[in-house]
Amino acid sequence: MSISRRKFIGWFGAASGALLVSGKARASGKEFKGFPKSNGVLHDTALCVGCRTCESACNKENKLGKPDKPFTDLTVLKEKRRTTNDAYTVVNKFETKKGVLFAKKQCNHCLEPACASVCFVKAFKKDKTGAVTYDADVCVGCRYCMVACPFDVPTYEYDDPFTPEVKKCTLCKPRIDAGKLPACVEGCPKDALIFGERKKLLKIARKRIEKHPERYEDHIYGEKEMGGTSWLYLSPAKFEEIDMREDLGSKSTPELTHGALAVVPMVVGLWPAFLTGMYAMTKRRQKIALDEKNEAVKVATETTKATADEALKEALKKAESAKEKAIDSAVKKALEEAKKSEDTEEEE
Ligand code: SF4
Ligand code: SF4
Ligand code: SF4
Repeated sequence: MSISRRKFIGWFGAASGALLVSGKARASGKEFKGFPKSNGVLHDTALCVGCRTCESACNKENKLGKPDKPFTDLTVLKEKRRTTNDAYTVVNKFETKKGVLFAKKQCNHCLEPACASVCFVKAFKKDKTGAVTYDADVCVGCRYCMVACPFDVPTYEYDDPFTPEVKKCTLCKPRIDAGKLPACVEGCPKDALIFGERKKLLKIARKRIEKHPERYEDHIYGEKEMGGTSWLYLSPAKFEEIDMREDLGSKSTPELTHGALAVVPMVVGLWPAFLTGMYAMTKRRQKIALDEKNEAVKVATETTKATADEALKEALKKAESAKEKAIDSAVKKALEEAKKSEDTEEEE
């Protein structure tokens, strides 16, 4: 399969950093072989009915914001949607030559992720569970992961001026670590999602194709694309008909960038300086944010104290005045009683 020049250039810019972290490893013979027992999910689009239960389960699990329209509203399927900060997964509807199909989209948890290969602070890492994890604490906000991702998945919290993060599906790693299924897989009422060891999922997928050649395309999407992904797909229609790129080829981003970068050493030389500058800027921005936060707390504390002092003063004043009134009234009453008793004595 060929890769269009435009697409390659798009990755190339972002993927130059790949040489720094993984290209060098390849050049020195330390090729990453992946995690042989890593997991994945098989999405059989022939079984998917577009119910959006997986979307709802994902939002609940990840405590994401409420969608504009409820998950029970299937009219949203009319529009092609992509993942957002509040939707790590979306299901889209497609009219294909094989009829209407639904396909779920999320981070594919690539075996050799482009996002990880361009990230010079290593905020993205491929984990042995199969998940591509993201560490917001070290992320410098350069967003090269977004440019590099061939599946157009990661999103960014542009609205958060102080601590913006990149957002994407986590493969529910905390659930996997706890021996549970990813929330979307658990929620799917049609068994259109199967979680398990990637190798076993490939066997299941192959068997389904063999058993029902009339039902499926003879292609397991994700087996080879971009070096392989943890999410695998079966489809009755050609994958391009369900908006899945068939022009990616089987080479991972580190493989693609290695040869290209060998002829542009200058770019490689400049890259660390540029990214280090970005890192410093982000750290400075975070320091300013922290200083501003501390200042706001100081002002709020002082204001609260001043208000409390004023209220106390006012209360004391009122108490003093009430006390004086009480004394006056007691004196007046005593005088009246004394006068009354004087008058009584005189009458006697
Ligand atoms: S799909 Fe994109 S974000 Fe997910 S692991 Fe692959 S490159 Fe990274
Ligand atoms: S694996 Fe978890 S985070 Fe990813 S789409 Fe499914 S529920 Fe959402
Ligand atoms: S829950 Fe299952 S059947 Fe429903 S939309 Fe998601 S993948 Fe498809």
